[in-house]
Amino acid sequence: MVGNRQQGILYIVVPCYNEEEAIKVSAKKLWEKLSQLKSDKLISEKSRIVFVDDGSKDRTWELIKELYESSDEIIGLRFAHNRGHQNAILAGMMYAKDYCDFVITIDADLQQDINAMESFINEYVLGSEIVFGVRNSRDTDGFFKKASATIFYKTMRFLGCNIYENSADYRLMSAKALDALSEYGEVNLFLRGIIPDIGLKTSVVHFDVFPREQGTSKYSLSKMITLAVDGITSFSIKPIRLVFTMGIISLVIGFFMVIHILYEHYFGYTVNGWSSILMSIWLLGGAILISLGIIGEYVGRNYMETKHRPRYYFWETLSHDGGDGAQG
Ligand code: UDP
Ligand code: MG
Repeated sequence: MVGNRQQGILYIVVPCYNEEEAIKVSAKKLWEKLSQLKSDKLISEKSRIVFVDDGSKDRTWELIKELYESSDEIIGLRFAHNRGHQNAILAGMMYAKDYCDFVITIDADLQQDINAMESFINEYVLGSEIVFGVRNSRDTDGFFKKASATIFYKTMRFLGCNIYENSADYRLMSAKALDALSEYGEVNLFLRGIIPDIGLKTSVVHFDVFPREQGTSKYSLSKMITLAVDGITSFSIKPIRLVFTMGIISLVIGFFMVIHILYEHYFGYTVNGWSSILMSIWLLGGAILISLGIIGEYVGRNYMETKHRPRYYFWETLSHDGGDGAQG
């Protein structure tokens, strides 16, 4: 879009899945924040809040509709069914990119400190195209979430992904960065990994995390695992190299096994040798099976990508911008 650095148009993108308990309180806080940023002359009067309903089964959409009717500054987008947090954020950002100078994405429960927004905007004014939010501590998370997150980020970095540790999907992106992001055609989306990959000027803002005040976490264990698997498999071919390493190791073991078997054979203990052969069959069988599993994972993903399924489809679009909405 215009690319205004001073007093640019901000669109705040908020993914919502079954957030009927949280949305009203959060909308009020966000709306107050928006007004404050406007009166501080940090953002344009045309700034908006975009709620993306990720196919909620509760009253979330009705509440978004009420908010839309009560204010020109609210936009509502609704998925036909649950497409996941990452797709909801992406959809909101892709919608916003034609109307705004920059977006900030934030969770509907406002666990992330909205008062960090000024720092985000400051970095943008200074010239950053992407500003990453990095959480100060994970004290509000339980042991399991803390441990799994640590393992996940360490693995991702080990596999060569340029991810910020403890980065959240609380971030600012300029319209230019969004344009670049829209070129990424992959279906299995992991924004925290893709966005650092874009290569534009970035900076980092640290923010506090609060416990969820309304409702419960919408990130079930299976959703967390899906996110982790998407992250890992969409970013790395190291597992294939691991297969290669395993192949070398089995060859070396096989070599020693052959010496061992020949030795047994030479001294006539062939019955004993039988167990070594069995062992090698097991070893090789295991290695082949694991290799096949890993290659199969990539082949499977290739297959999914070639389908070019739409990522989302807006069921309804509520907007004061007069746009007809977008389809992925
Ligand atoms: N969310 C979503 N789709 C989903 C699951 C979650 O849009 O399938 C949204 C949810 O409404 C919230 C954000 O993603 O705005 C983060 O979810 P949540 O706060 O439940 O996760 P947690 O903070 O527990 O990791
Ligand atoms: Mg949360």
